[in-house]
Amino acid sequence: MSRKKLLLIAALLALVAAFFVFDLGRFLSLDYIKQRQADFAALHAQRPLAVIAVFFIAYVAVTALSLPGAAIMTLAAGAILGLVTGTIVVSFASSIGATLAFLAARYVLRDAVQARFGARLAEIDKGIEKEGPFYLFTLRLVPLFPFFVINLLMGLTRMRARTFYWVSQLGMFAGTVVYVNAGTQLARIESLRGILSPALLGSFVLLGVFPLIAKKIVDAVQRREVYARWASVKPRRFDRNMVVIGAGAAGLVSSYIAAAVKARVTLVESHKMGGDCLNYGCVPSKALIKTATLMHQMKHSADYGIARVEARVDFADVMERVARIVKQVEPHDSVERYTALGVEVLLGSAKIVNPWTVEVDLGEGRGQTLTTKTIVIATGAAPSVPSLPGLDDVGFLTSDTLWALRELPPRLLVLGGGPVGCELAQAFARLGSQVTQVEMGPRLMAREDEEVSAFARQALERDGVQVLTGHKALRCLREGERLFLVVEADGREKRIEFDRLLCAVGRSARLEGYGLEELGIPAGKTIETDEYLRTRYPNILACGDVAGPFQFTHTASHQAWYAAVNGLFGSVKKFKADYSVIPWTTFIDPEVAHVGLNEQEAKEKKIACEVTRYGIDELDRAIADGSAQGFVKVLTVPGRDKILGVTIVGAHAGDLLAEFVLAMKHGLGLNKILGTIHAYPTLSEANKYAAGEWKRQHQPERLLKWVARFHAWQRG
Ligand SMILES: Cc1cc2nc3c(=O)[nH]c(=O)nc-3n(C[C@H](O)[C@H](O)[C@H](O)COP(=O)(O)OP(=O)(O)OC[C@H]3O[C@@H](n4cnc5c(N)ncnc54)[C@H](O)[C@@H]3O)c2cc1C
Repeated sequence: MSRKKLLLIAALLALVAAFFVFDLGRFLSLDYIKQRQADFAALHAQRPLAVIAVFFIAYVAVTALSLPGAAIMTLAAGAILGLVTGTIVVSFASSIGATLAFLAARYVLRDAVQARFGARLAEIDKGIEKEGPFYLFTLRLVPLFPFFVINLLMGLTRMRARTFYWVSQLGMFAGTVVYVNAGTQLARIESLRGILSPALLGSFVLLGVFPLIAKKIVDAVQRREVYARWASVKPRRFDRNMVVIGAGAAGLVSSYIAAAVKARVTLVESHKMGGDCLNYGCVPSKALIKTATLMHQMKHSADYGIARVEARVDFADVMERVARIVKQVEPHDSVERYTALGVEVLLGSAKIVNPWTVEVDLGEGRGQTLTTKTIVIATGAAPSVPSLPGLDDVGFLTSDTLWALRELPPRLLVLGGGPVGCELAQAFARLGSQVTQVEMGPRLMAREDEEVSAFARQALERDGVQVLTGHKALRCLREGERLFLVVEADGREKRIEFDRLLCAVGRSARLEGYGLEELGIPAGKTIETDEYLRTRYPNILACGDVAGPFQFTHTASHQAWYAAVNGLFGSVKKFKADYSVIPWTTFIDPEVAHVGLNEQEAKEKKIACEVTRYGIDELDRAIADGSAQGFVKVLTVPGRDKILGVTIVGAHAGDLLAEFVLAMKHGLGLNKILGTIHAYPTLSEANKYAAGEWKRQHQPERLLKWVARFHAWQRG
């Protein structure tokens, strides 16, 4: 804690202590004010401004220091200053004092609270951002809630001080008037309790909840307004309960859930069932990585005592195998399977023409109009292509077109240092391409911790990838048959020659061509949805890559559940999409798997954490397998057995991670993992050893000292 902060805390504590030590509270009692009322009134008559100034400062001090007595002072204001002046003085003094208390709480406590409850606080902050002023107004209006608690608690949120000030002043005004007015009749008051009659309190409560109710009504009206321009085309009845657009992971799961709960659902796909994951993403890339891994192992067979394996890559065969694997998985996502599950599947291009109608272009001039109660948009994302001069001229591959390749590029340039770029760069290098990977940022896989990026870089470089970070692609050039990428690094330009260029610079949500613009559904990089995945039209929901914030198959299916359930049952019960435990894996070798917080994020969000590491190089099974590299890194709440996040780098890290994902999801700590038998010798033991490391750091030292004494005593 900084010196400044410590000094402030000391000063505040000293002032509060002085109040109690010198029993200043005796001046803030009803009896005292009554006894001295005449003296104060006389003083006020003589020197009104001075009395007001002193009263104002004293009032600010009492509220800012959260001292008891503000209510008595408000009565005194009425008794001494009268209704109008008293109300004005108290209204400003109480709001300023409350804001000072709010700021002090923020300055002194916010960091510590943020560090301990960061994730939960983020949720609260989100709510405060949206509805905070309404809640504050309600709390202020109903004088049942102790004001000093409100000041301190609100200080811990991200509410702006200005908002806090004006909402407080507005909210406290009615109560202030009642108390100041009561103060004008001070002699009749026997206790503070009598001031607010049950009827008055009831009115305050009603007044307090009014803004909340009003907000709900405004929301409902706004929702109705959204639909107003479509009122004339709203069908009387609907043919379907749900139409799902896009048959990738998100669309398949949404429609499956809808069918499972007996809704009438139609799934529309314009291209290939299974979407990107099956056809261009996870499945083909992992099939390719398998061959690349095999090739790598053969090259290193001597390490395992198998000398001279003559392996030659037949790239066309490799890619045929990839295509075969896709074919083999295809039935899982096929029209037949989904039809059997109760989903009507249409192969065509969908367009939303109004909030309840989807037109499907089935090709060859055929079309179908579907009316539906809800629509789920699951149109996914497509590879982004950078606007580089000359790119079209040199030609380029993306994850969409890569799989048609049948000749191994001798020199492959991979543009992009994210997960997809890294996976493919390593795979092609292992298959025999000379790969150069160009990344504009300072490191690969920028979402991971620096040490993970460094690990990934080493792994790729070991396989022969030339990794160029901090290199900005400027343009492409064709000189006869020769192709170049011009990059800039450290202020200098240089050319990199290549045979094929693969763009792996990210994927952009598909937002055009199916009615978003016409319906005025807002979209930035992805479709804007609320926490229930509803768009501006509550009966139109979005999930998967098109909705973000993640771009994974498992997050697409996870969101799909919420979209389907909220779409079908939202009028009865809605569920907020839960992103608290999201795992992901990058399938380079060694794999990088991640769930929850990493150190980088913890630092950014100022969340205090303890880091426990276990080096996989010590793990028996990894040593036996020749894969003894990597680590398990676990972040926990300081001093508590609560997992905040885990990063695993190592062979099969993605599979090892599942144990931590389960633990985090169900609130299990490292003690539970340590207390679970892990078969020997398995890679999963790494998780147990990481838990063991944590346990060692949290040994009950004092108890152990006593136990040592006990043993010594036993030995005699
Ligand atoms: C090379 C690569 C490797 C990847 N590896 C992994 C991995 O290992 N693990 C992982 O979790 N994720 C991985 N991903 C990401 C994963 O593929 C996506 O996150 C996932 O496919 C998203 O699913 P989705 O349903 O949101 O979208 P998509 O799978 O893109 O499906 C959307 C579908 O909507 C259809 N569509 C669009 N517009 C219309 C319309 N108007 N009418 C009808 N249909 C329409 C499209 O044709 C498409 O089939 C990888 C991606 C790539 C490119």
